[in-house]
Amino acid sequence: MTAAATGGGPDAELRGIRKVYDNGARGVEQVDFTVATGEFFSMLGPSGCGKSTTLRILAGLEEPTSGEVLIRGEPMRGRPAHRRPTNMVFQRLALFPHLTVADNIAFGPKLRRKPARQVSEIVGSMLDLVDLAGYDARYPAQLSGGQQQRVAIARALANEPAVLLLDEPLGALDLRLRVQMQQALKRIQHDSGTTFVYVTHDQVEALTMSDRMAVMNEGRIEQIGPPAELYRSPATKFTATFLGDTNLYEGTYDGGLLEAEGIGVKVARPGRAVSVRPEHVAVGKDLDCANRYHGRLEDVIFQGASTRYHVRLASGVLVISERREEAGSTLTVGDEVETGWDVDAGVVLDH
Ligand code: ADP
Repeated sequence: MTAAATGGGPDAELRGIRKVYDNGARGVEQVDFTVATGEFFSMLGPSGCGKSTTLRILAGLEEPTSGEVLIRGEPMRGRPAHRRPTNMVFQRLALFPHLTVADNIAFGPKLRRKPARQVSEIVGSMLDLVDLAGYDARYPAQLSGGQQQRVAIARALANEPAVLLLDEPLGALDLRLRVQMQQALKRIQHDSGTTFVYVTHDQVEALTMSDRMAVMNEGRIEQIGPPAELYRSPATKFTATFLGDTNLYEGTYDGGLLEAEGIGVKVARPGRAVSVRPEHVAVGKDLDCANRYHGRLEDVIFQGASTRYHVRLASGVLVISERREEAGSTLTVGDEVETGWDVDAGVVLDH
């Protein structure tokens, strides 16, 4: 188990993966993706959509009902977890409490009978990597939650896995620590050059850290791509609504117009729905945009850097706008306003 490439091919590849558990529960229906060397790849989706099942299949902790896992081009069928070039980091830490930080990190390399000098070199470079130089003699109980999680990551990386698998590794930390750890993890991944496959149900985490991400829903992948592409060009209603906030209007297309219930939206092409991000929606008076509606300002929510405006149209439809500029701040609840957006702000969706 070294970082040296064994076969050709991407670091991880899942082909037609399906998993039905012994009790009949459907773990995943159909999952296909490839992860390139050095990539930070995330799986994002609601609880129960099959993220952990997919990760455990990659790790060899579960066998797929059908489909194939390849790591660096090598088929993994029948190969148990401890013989795969992968390591897993869990939400709940699995550090050895009776071993020091250094001994925790040295555990894998020692098991693989690396010479003592090489083991201490690995420990030193791993401690540097996770920014814990000088903590080698501490015991896990003498560290904060974030520090413990960094030791867990160092311990996993000390095995030089082809792919590091992380299952909600920040889930147990409080919000402030999570944000710090997101940045630390991204840096560790970049500096180590190791391929990461990361599972989370937190969209901010996936958006901020990933090179590419897969949005999952009910055992299937809805869409794969770089975070900005998924956010800006969602392919499905699920991705549009799951990633960030959006105004989603479903209807029938007729002559350049999507006729949704209570609102007609000029769109660029035929489709079944249109998604308009709140930051692309203007609110005010005498607007100059292709889609323009009259309504009453129902709510103004100050959020610091931006303000959200809820505009209720006469038909009952709600339009949400989020603005950064100060100009809008003169608007107050109850005002009669206009709201609207240009045609190219609307992403047309087929399903
Ligand atoms: P996620 O990680 O996205 O929350 P999981 O992969 O854990 O989703 O679960 C996907 C589906 O498989 C769920 O319906 C879950 O109940 C089921 N499942 C997961 N693990 C098992 C198991 N060991 N036995 C039976 N069903 C399971």
